[in-house]
Amino acid sequence: MNRRMFLTNASRSAMVTGVGLLGAPAVHATTRYAWTMVTAWPKDFPGVGTGANNLAQHIARMSDQRLTITVYGAGELVPAFDIFDAVAAGKAEMGHASALYWKAKHPAMPFFATVPFGLTAQEMEAWLRYGGGEALWDALYTGFNLKPFAAGNTGVQMGGWFNKVINTVEDFKGLKMRFPGLGGDVLARLGAQIVDLPGSDILPALQSGAIEAAEWVGPYNDLAFGLHTVAQYYYWPGWHEPGAVLECMIHKPVYEALPADLQAIITQAMQAAYSDMLAEYTAGNNTALMTLVQTHKVQLRRFPNAVLGRLGKISQEVVAALAATDPMAQKVYQSFHAFRKHAIEWGQIGEEAYSLARSLTSTF
Ligand code: CA
Repeated sequence: MNRRMFLTNASRSAMVTGVGLLGAPAVHATTRYAWTMVTAWPKDFPGVGTGANNLAQHIARMSDQRLTITVYGAGELVPAFDIFDAVAAGKAEMGHASALYWKAKHPAMPFFATVPFGLTAQEMEAWLRYGGGEALWDALYTGFNLKPFAAGNTGVQMGGWFNKVINTVEDFKGLKMRFPGLGGDVLARLGAQIVDLPGSDILPALQSGAIEAAEWVGPYNDLAFGLHTVAQYYYWPGWHEPGAVLECMIHKPVYEALPADLQAIITQAMQAAYSDMLAEYTAGNNTALMTLVQTHKVQLRRFPNAVLGRLGKISQEVVAALAATDPMAQKVYQSFHAFRKHAIEWGQIGEEAYSLARSLTSTF
């Protein structure tokens, strides 16, 4: 961390109070706020980084510059994995990351990002906003002095980059992989050696041989990091991250000190950022997949059904075991699990049935 830069920004984030007409004391509408947002992504990185930038711009425009936010990339003020602690302590007002990274803080965390064989992006948003998820997330983060928001989603991810073919679950044994979150726990049960690395460290680790395989996000982001230059096979589907939520957390005392209209602007800007990021990923993945396959000759491979079936069974065990370690995690799991059951029932005759029907019809 660049300490001098950090302190400079902390001090400039202090509230600046304007002076009202005729020198009267300032009212809320003239109070200006300059905040700092630290992120877990390389600056301006497609999707997650641009999503953080868009969010900051939405808030500034909607508030007529009363709340401005300076966005920093991972490592510029704090390292990617220190964001949670920095925002909880109030060293930065906002942090843009994923609850996936905070499993060591609390076992309920992964449910607010994504869990293996869990909910899609559309279903996650539905659970958070209309299925009780948001209230549980608020309750969990209040314990850390944080206010959480869903601020984006990658959509379904890819299953990762490999230089060996995966025919059976035995092929994961001994494989050194970057595979975060609960998906990593699942593969560890199959004997994989799991390594946690921020996104920007993946390519060098694959190049040096420190890891042999890795997952990051999907075509749009994986092409941007050049992962196709060091791995041959690109596996699907992303069973471990079916709809990863990106969070924007705010240091709770500064959020609560805002006037109600700025709080409402933040809430609406987060919702806009969520759908905007998902749209960017969908459009970006469509074209990046074509580039990977046609220009870079990447070999797409699907995990065999027997492998997916085994991964699903272990995932169920890992998720349930995690929830059983803590009453709050159990409460979140019960809510998530009940929502997932109905989402599957509807999905099978809704989105999934339509996707299947569409794929059977090649002409338009
Ligand atoms: Ca991922």
